[in-house]
Formats: sequence, structure tokens, C-alpha cells
Amino acid sequence: MSDNMRIVETFTLPSQGMVYEEQVNPEVVLSSMTTRHEMLRLSSTEDSQKIMAQIIDDCIESDLGISAYDLCLGDFQYLLFMLRVVTFGNEYEMAGKCPYCGFNQTNKVLLDELPVKLYDESLVDLMELTLPKTGSKVKLTLQTPRMLDRINTKIKEYRRRHKDSEENPTILYTILASIEEVDDEQMTTFSLEEWIKDLPLADTNALINRIDLINSVIGVDLNVESECKVCGTEYLLPFYINQTFFRPRN
Ligand SMILES: [Zn+2]
Repeated sequence: MSDNMRIVETFTLPSQGMVYEEQVNPEVVLSSMTTRHEMLRLSSTEDSQKIMAQIIDDCIESDLGISAYDLCLGDFQYLLFMLRVVTFGNEYEMAGKCPYCGFNQTNKVLLDELPVKLYDESLVDLMELTLPKTGSKVKLTLQTPRMLDRINTKIKEYRRRHKDSEENPTILYTILASIEEVDDEQMTTFSLEEWIKDLPLADTNALINRIDLINSVIGVDLNVESECKVCGTEYLLPFYINQTFFRPRN
């Protein structure tokens, strides 16, 4: 089949390539998905991010420099949105409920017109944090899709090993994956895990808040502005991906 049936567009990564150790080309030429990609998307795998990263990698016509699997979440999500745009167009419908009168309405979202938060230098300072109780200095790293899959695998392993336990290890593995150094030293995974488990909860909380923050300062703004058709209340609707994201009805 001739390739000219596929739509090709160029996009700029929100990070502008500034958050990577490797050389990353922020100008990304993206082509639309084919049936092959949809078959891949619908495959049953535990590594859900890996599949989407493979599809994005395959649809990138330019030289990104690294796999989409190792992009920061903001860049990855942006490319996912733009992949939807080149494949099916920018119109996406999302249901939302007015917090004032409770009216349920369908909101039309234009995926390529959502505000995008770009890299700025203030991120550098946010990557380091002094914990309020222990005073430890922690250096953090941005999450990637590869890390999300790894965190998921570790949670499943933990549950298999601790069948009688009701503990939820998500917080432990999220912090574990996000820490690069403590007090200017790299720790082994084992000692870091023990260190996290013994942290005063106020420190843990400060870490989680900061991890959430650094992973949300770059990328598509996931709060969609909506106005209730009945009472006129303006409210923010958290963006979510439903079936029609990759299977629009028309
Ligand atoms: Zn309303």
C-alpha cells in the first residue's frame, strides 16, 4: 500500500528535549496508525505502556533519539494525544457532570487545542527536595512509561509474595522508582526500599506530593474547561480516555 494514504504531521515535544540525558530531537514527525497498530493495541499484555510506546515508535518518522518508552510522561502522553489526532482527527467526546446542578452533558474536546505546559527552568529546582522531618536531601527523576510498567509488575510480585497481606505497596514502588539519590548517594534497591519503609509519613507525603508535581508540570493540561448547558456553571473536568479515544464512532 502506498504510504501517502497515511497522514503525517510534525509536533514539538512539550519538554523540548530539555529533560533527557540523551540527545532527544523534540521535532517529532508522526504518521497515522494502521490496522497493524490497532491489532497491537488490542493485544493482551501486562505491559500496557510498552505496547503504546511500540506503536508510537513505529509511527514516528523522524529520529527521536530514544524510544517513546523512555520519554517523560508529559511527552509520552502528548504524543499519544497527537497520534489520536493524526489518526482520527482532533474531536473527542467526554461525558461530564455539573458539580452544581448535577446535569450530565457530553463535552466536545479538541485534542490539539488543549493547553500544553512546556518545559521551563523552574523544573530543575523541583527535582531536589529536602525532607521536612529527617532533613534528607533527595534527588528525583521524572517518571517514564517504562517505569509505570515496572511499578505495576513490582506491585503484582509483592501481592504474590504477600498473599495474606492487605498492604498496598503502590506508594512504596512509586517512590522507589522516582528516587535517584539520597544525600548525594545512590543506594541499592534493597536499602532504599527499607529506607522508604522507615520514613516518617510526613516525609513520605512530601515526596509523593513532589513526585506528582514534577510529573505534571510538562505536557497536556488534563483539566478540561466545561460550562454547564443548564445552569451555566463553569467547571474543570479531569480528562479521561474512554473507548472512543482510539475507536471514535464516526
Ligand atoms: Zn449545572
